Amino acid sequence: MDAMYLRKSRIDLDAERSGEGNTLLRHKTTLLELAKRQNRTIGEIYEEVKSGETIAARPEMQRLLADVEAGRWDAVLVMEVERLARGDSIDQGIVSQAFKSSGTLIITPAKTYDPNNEFDEEYFEFGLFMSRREYKSIRRRMEAGKRAAVREGKYMGKTAPFGYRRVRVENGKGWTLEIVPEEAEIVRRLYDMHVRQGVGFQHMARMLNEEGALTRRGNPWCPYSVRAILDNVTYAGYVYYGRVKTVKTSTGRRGIKRRPLADEVLICKGIHPPIISKELFDASQARRMKYRSAPVRNDEDLVNPFQGILFCRDCGARMQLNVRPAKTHSLLCRNISCSNISARLPVVEELLLHMLEDWLDSYRVECNSETSDLLRQRLSEAQTSSQRIDSQISQENRKLQKAYDLLESDVYTTDEFTARRASIQERIAELTQKKSQIEKKISEYEQAVEQQEDIVPAVERLVMMYKYADTAREKNDMLKACLERIEYKKTKQYNDSSIKLWIYPRLGRKS
Ligand SMILES: [Zn+2]
Repeated sequence: MDAMYLRKSRIDLDAERSGEGNTLLRHKTTLLELAKRQNRTIGEIYEEVKSGETIAARPEMQRLLADVEAGRWDAVLVMEVERLARGDSIDQGIVSQAFKSSGTLIITPAKTYDPNNEFDEEYFEFGLFMSRREYKSIRRRMEAGKRAAVREGKYMGKTAPFGYRRVRVENGKGWTLEIVPEEAEIVRRLYDMHVRQGVGFQHMARMLNEEGALTRRGNPWCPYSVRAILDNVTYAGYVYYGRVKTVKTSTGRRGIKRRPLADEVLICKGIHPPIISKELFDASQARRMKYRSAPVRNDEDLVNPFQGILFCRDCGARMQLNVRPAKTHSLLCRNISCSNISARLPVVEELLLHMLEDWLDSYRVECNSETSDLLRQRLSEAQTSSQRIDSQISQENRKLQKAYDLLESDVYTTDEFTARRASIQERIAELTQKKSQIEKKISEYEQAVEQQEDIVPAVERLVMMYKYADTAREKNDMLKACLERIEYKKTKQYNDSSIKLWIYPRLGRKS
């Protein structure tokens, strides 16, 4: 039993456009006649609807190859050998291997090939070689077309980058991109973490994996896949077309390095929606360039993650890091006459994170969105009663003024006036005190509202990301993003549970 494979070539497409009839129908007739002449039975016709060049872009070809490899067919009828594979030498190898290993014949109107016959094999591969030369010239023409499409803002990639899905351009030819919201959220976070917090690829990959997020292909994230996202200008709303230069690296393991040839890359504003701003993309690139050109920064010298943030509870001096090579670093008060006891750095870090986690937990219990509304309600009530007290005070002042008037017009005796004035002044003092209490409450409520909006996400980030940071600078940046000051006290030598920390969160927006 035999199979038939039908596929249009680019030349066929051109011919059809200039008015020639349906190519595949014509080919089918030709091959059916050929089968009849040779007394062959066609068990299945694989008809490629798409005209992709690579095997990956031809689903019917994939199905045929699987069947050929399984030995399902004695022969495959095809118009020319080149219809099976062209262009890509890997594809060519896959095809000839499938036919060779199963001993499947290739029958064309011109010739029958037996892949296991040495002479035919050469011919077979020569045929593919010829088509490859043809493919190159076709490719050059296609490239011009692609560049034109990029200038129109269309997306030329075969698969959409993570964060997007590929969709047809409305009422037109070609493709553009549509945002996949939950993936786009990850893209935004990665850029944000990279630019604003300086988090490295390794940590971002680990974080995503801990969250159970997967790449588009369903793999765990690795630093390279994170970097690919931070390097892709598509996210800023641009499209590009450019040939990639393939460079073999000497180290071998990563085998092939792909870099666009800068002068041949065409970048244009795309018609798809951006996920991040151009500014953020540029900032990310600038950050990368900075690291590349200056791998050793002064920042790297920072060894104390608590630099500028941890103070002695006893004397108020800074806690300094005692660097002990090959031993765990320890924190101790800079003031040599101070009696505060030193502690190992990781112990203090761990305690701090535990405290912040506990704080977040209790905060989440107390401040869900309902209580947040309640908080706002209380704030507005307090503001109202503050205004009411203001008007009461001015009312009392008016009474006082009237008492003066009554004294002047001799209605009040001096004694009566003094008593009256004393009672009004007492009332005013009372109200003033009440007002200051309410003002204090108002600022507390305001602070709480602000905390909820500002400090909670920052602490969440700190608790989540701290363990992934491996430079002291990264840790220090994270700490400073949400804490103003930490005070430290240890009361017993060799007893880590005697350590106490006082945490002062950073309030108000940081510019
Ligand atoms: Zn001290």
